[in-house]
Amino acid sequence: MFERKLPLFTLFGFKISIDITWFVLVVLITWSLAKGVFPHYFEGFSNTTYWWMGAAGALGLFISIIFHEFCHSLVARQFDLPIKGITLFIFGGVAEMNEEPENAKSEFFMAIAGPISSAVLASIFFLFYTAGKAVNLPVPVSGVLMYLGWLNIILAGFNMVPAFPLDGGRVLRSILWYARGDLRWATRISSRLGAAFGLFLMIMGVISFIGGNFIGGLWYFLIGMFIRSASQMSYRQLLVKNALMGEPISRFMAVQAVTVPPSITVSDLVEDYFYKYHYKMFPVTEDGMLKGCVTTTQIKGLSKEQWATTRVSDIAQPCSEGNAVSPEADSIDALSLMNSTGNSRLMVVERNRLLGVISLKDMLKFMALKLDLEAGQRITTGPDTFED
Ligand SMILES: [Zn+2]
Repeated sequence: MFERKLPLFTLFGFKISIDITWFVLVVLITWSLAKGVFPHYFEGFSNTTYWWMGAAGALGLFISIIFHEFCHSLVARQFDLPIKGITLFIFGGVAEMNEEPENAKSEFFMAIAGPISSAVLASIFFLFYTAGKAVNLPVPVSGVLMYLGWLNIILAGFNMVPAFPLDGGRVLRSILWYARGDLRWATRISSRLGAAFGLFLMIMGVISFIGGNFIGGLWYFLIGMFIRSASQMSYRQLLVKNALMGEPISRFMAVQAVTVPPSITVSDLVEDYFYKYHYKMFPVTEDGMLKGCVTTTQIKGLSKEQWATTRVSDIAQPCSEGNAVSPEADSIDALSLMNSTGNSRLMVVERNRLLGVISLKDMLKFMALKLDLEAGQRITTGPDTFED
């Protein structure tokens, strides 16, 4: 979701960027303020004035969200948690963390910093609003100030809903985590609440939509869907991470890996290896030396007539950071490499020597076994996850 982002500026070492979806929010907010909210509450001004008020409101939203995420990031830095940067996107903003908080205390303070900062900002806007009234600020200016005060109250309130991964859900998780010392249980409870809250918003969205509030309804629905999938995903990620953390690659490495000589033709490769073993990748070795690997992707680039005349050595890929790992690598690293490259099988290589092959299938099997034995809880995976 964050690949189409434009860097804006750096604030105290945090890179602030905007995802292009953010512009959808800006247009919607400006439009609904200029055409709906402001004309309703402050009657008798020109269209141009309402558009200016709308633009100022959108700018205020921008500042409010950056301030909120910035406070999360500052507290994270206090606890030595690296923050990649702050990105604004269609549903607000996010302070992108490289890793999760290490203990309940840091999670609690990091999470609560956001809603507190929004509450503080709300007070500041209300203070300006009151002071503005005393000096007779023009109504359009004080109107925007009042709107921004309420906006920050809503930001604080919405984010304090105990629905993981919203701030309130993280606060709840940290309290549960602290109480029982069980991060997994705490995450399960709070992410279930997150999924339930997401569903609630989606239903609210449908009801509003049927009631004629098309944009509002659609908005609720999309935010609900976003929260729901984010909560489920974070729990699954935690399960995977917990099960694999600290596990050496050797645990699921197949030592007797099937290798392919470089001299055979692609026809033989397909017939004797791909169709026989059903793996998507084979290491290519000659006299015990590793020459690289060959995957289905390289074969797909050839026409069937070329199979008989092309040799494995012509299409083999050299070892790279994308298809090979060292035996010291962490299981989590291997999994994230599989995730980012789409390679479900990786070679374990040490000084140009093939030690074995690890596959996603074996890792998942190991993980399911571990979860089953140690926690009495099964993880269910779809058939596609077991694809080899
Ligand atoms: Zn927040």
